[in-house]
Amino acid sequence: MFVTPSIDETRAFRWQDPRPRWGLVPTMGALHEGHLSLIRRARAETDRVAVTIYVNPTQFGAGEDLSSYPRPLARDLDLLAAEGVDLVFTPDDRTMYPTGFQTAVEVRELTQKLEGRSRPSHFAGVTLIVAKLFNILQPQVAYFGQKDAQQTVVLGRMVQDLNFNLSLVVCPTVRDERGLALSSRNAYLSPAEYEAALSLNQSLSGGAAAVREGLRDAGRLRQAIVDRLAAEPLARIDYVSVADLETLDEVTRIEGKTLVSLAVFIGTTRLIDNAILDPEGDPSS
Ligand code: AMP
Repeated sequence: MFVTPSIDETRAFRWQDPRPRWGLVPTMGALHEGHLSLIRRARAETDRVAVTIYVNPTQFGAGEDLSSYPRPLARDLDLLAAEGVDLVFTPDDRTMYPTGFQTAVEVRELTQKLEGRSRPSHFAGVTLIVAKLFNILQPQVAYFGQKDAQQTVVLGRMVQDLNFNLSLVVCPTVRDERGLALSSRNAYLSPAEYEAALSLNQSLSGGAAAVREGLRDAGRLRQAIVDRLAAEPLARIDYVSVADLETLDEVTRIEGKTLVSLAVFIGTTRLIDNAILDPEGDPSS
């Protein structure tokens, strides 16, 4: 496994042999089974796998957890070596944002909704860094998690609009044995907060069951989820959304692919989760 913080060395390694198909898995490190599921999918579907580990400052807002975000690099590299990853790019801030940097990559409307309302500069940072990583690595396929549902929609738009010559693969959310979506931020939770955090998936599962049983009124679905979360004293709702999966606009009726997503503070930790409901197809999360 070749590990480097250098763009030139990354490019040289990636183009040593131009024939293999490359899969890219961008991460911020503190790897867990969710990340590893993306890597395994890339391993199965492409010839070479590149993983990037970079805690990108431009996607964190003021007052968010940029400085405290976990950075267990040695452990991450052990996990990646065990997965048979070929290339790990671990740049620093000066490499990604050298003096004089001033370019923006903006997806306009999709980024104003849901997460974008609570984290106004977040997606500008995500699209910028992912565009840079696509240009540096030039993968044929890039892998992202359904856990960050809006991110996959925004990046899909960016790939289409800017004609990136690659396909995106969205992988299912990996959960722990009690249903909590794996996240590097789960490490911040106390035992009591962990119990409270289970309400995110429980409220989504309850909502999905109601839709399976025939509920089509989005307002009632939203209210049922809010009621379940509100029963949890340690949880403070940021938003609960029932939206069209393509436009991310709120819907009144559940017809076709619907993204049910939520953001909830558990103590000071902000967690997100979602489910895609498709009353005309198989419900999945
Ligand atoms: P992050 O390191 O949080 O930026 O995540 C890197 C990638 O892993 C993103 O595409 C995430 O959507 C994905 N990811 C994070 N958590 C999970 C999870 N529990 N299941 C599946 N993918 C995940």
